[in-house]
Amino acid sequence: THFGYETVTESEKQQRVAGVFSSVAESYDKMNDLMSLGVHRLWKDYFVSSLNPGATNPIGRPQQILDVAGGTGDIAFRMLQRAHNLNGNPNVHVTISDINPSMLAVGRQRSLALPASHQSSLSFLEANAEVLPPSIKDNSLDLYTVAFGIRNFSNIPAALREAHRVLKPGGVFACLEFSKVDKFPLLNAVYKQWSFSAIPLIGQLVAADRDSYQYLVESIERFPSQEEFRDMIVDAGFAVAGEGYEDLTGGIAAIHRGIKP
Ligand code: SAM
Repeated sequence: THFGYETVTESEKQQRVAGVFSSVAESYDKMNDLMSLGVHRLWKDYFVSSLNPGATNPIGRPQQILDVAGGTGDIAFRMLQRAHNLNGNPNVHVTISDINPSMLAVGRQRSLALPASHQSSLSFLEANAEVLPPSIKDNSLDLYTVAFGIRNFSNIPAALREAHRVLKPGGVFACLEFSKVDKFPLLNAVYKQWSFSAIPLIGQLVAADRDSYQYLVESIERFPSQEEFRDMIVDAGFAVAGEGYEDLTGGIAAIHRGIKP
C-alpha cells in the first residue's frame, strides 16, 4: 500500500497518524466496540489484571505508572480501579500520555465520571512516545504500559529505548497490541476477511471515515510478528521471561512484557 514503511518518511507517517486519531477521537470508543465485537474490553481487562497494579509488598507502596498512547483512558482507568479498589492501594499514580490532544480531551472528559480519589491519582500529558519530555525522569517509573498504540509509532526502537530509560531497574514494560494469527489458518482467514471488508465499511457507515479505518487495518498487517517484536524489546535492553509474549484470541492480540534489569 502507499502507506508502507518503504515509501513514507517518519514525519509523513506522524502526520498521517495525527490525522487519523484527530478524526476518530469522538467516535473512537464506540468504534472499538463495533470493530472488535466488544472483545477489546476483555483483552484490556485481562492485560490490566495480569499486571495487577497496586499489588505491592508491603501493601500501599507508591507506584508511578505511565500509560503511553493512552488515548481516551481505557487502560489507565482500569489500572486505577484495580489498584485503588481491588488492591487497596491509593498511592498508585497513573499518567496518561498521548501525542494527540483530541484523544486526550476525550479521555479528560471521560475521567470526570471517575471517583474523586481516582481523578486525583491521574494526570494527562501530551507527549510523543519517541521523545518523552524531561518531566518524565530517567529510572522513575514502576510500570510503562502501551495498548494498541505502538504499531502507530514512526520509530518503534526509539520508543522502546525511551521506555527503558524512564523505567526503574526492576520496572515493567507491558504492551497490548494486535498481532499475527499465523498459528491458526482458519481463524486467520475469517479474521482477515473481517478486517479488510467489515472494518473499513463500519468506519464508513458509523464514523463516515473509511480511510482512517482502512489505515488502521493496514497498520495491523504491517506490524511485526510476536517473535520479531519480542526481539526488538530485547534489543532495547529488556529481559523477558519464557517466550516473552502471550497470545490472546489465537494471536489477534498479544501481550509482550519486559523487565528492565
Ligand atoms: N491505549 C488506548 C486504548 O487502548 O484504547 C488508545 C489506543 S489508540 C488505537 C492509539 C493512540 O496512539 C492514539 O491515541 C494516538 O494518538 C496515539 N499515538 C500515535 N502515535 C503516537 C506517538 N508517537 N506517541 C504517543 N502516542 C501516539
